[in-house]
This record gives sequence, structure tokens and C-alpha cells, in this order.
Amino acid sequence: MSGTDGPAGPEEDAPEKDAPEEAGPRWRVEVDRGVCIGSGLCVATAPGGFELDAARQSHPVRPECAASDDVLAAAEGCPVEAISVTDARTGEAVFPPEE
Ligand code: SF4
Repeated sequence: MSGTDGPAGPEEDAPEKDAPEEAGPRWRVEVDRGVCIGSGLCVATAPGGFELDAARQSHPVRPECAASDDVLAAAEGCPVEAISVTDARTGEAVFPPEE
């Protein structure tokens, strides 16, 4: 028997609370879904950092990640500047940079 299962919701990756302190900086990555046009550029640039959902809206694979050139390049390359990156520890803007 089947038919009672709804659509599978996105699996949330729980933050690694007990992960050992890493040497490098950690970033918090957000995508403004009201701005994202689903170009997929960020996924192509940082396939481990972003993915598109069924509505072709991008979201970070993990909301917090180790600092990554690919993630920064994806944020810089987003045609609508939908991606913001902040330092997870200090809250300082990584991209777009504060002026
Ligand atoms: S590059 Fe920007 S507009 Fe394109 S899918 Fe990623 S967040 Fe959305």
C-alpha cells in the first residue's frame, strides 16, 4: 500500500555542534530566495556549496562551512547578488564586503 507519503521534505543537515575547532575561518552562507533567479551558476561554481531545489531556488548545502574559495567565487559570480557570506564567529561580512 502506498499513497500516504507526502513529498519528501529537504533533509536538514544539522550543524556539527561537537565538531572540533578547525584552524581556518568558518562562514555562514545565505541565499536570498526572493532574489535568486535560479541561474545555477553558484552550483556550477561551488557544487559542494550550493544546490538547487525543485523550484530552482539555490540554497547552501550547509548553512555554515569552512571558508572556501569556491563559495566566495560563487557569491561574487551570482548575477543578482543573492548570496551573502559572513564570518560565522565574528559576524563580519565577507561578501558582499562592508564599505
Ligand atoms: S548564482 Fe545566484 S541567482 Fe544563480 S542560482 Fe545561485 S543564488 Fe540563484
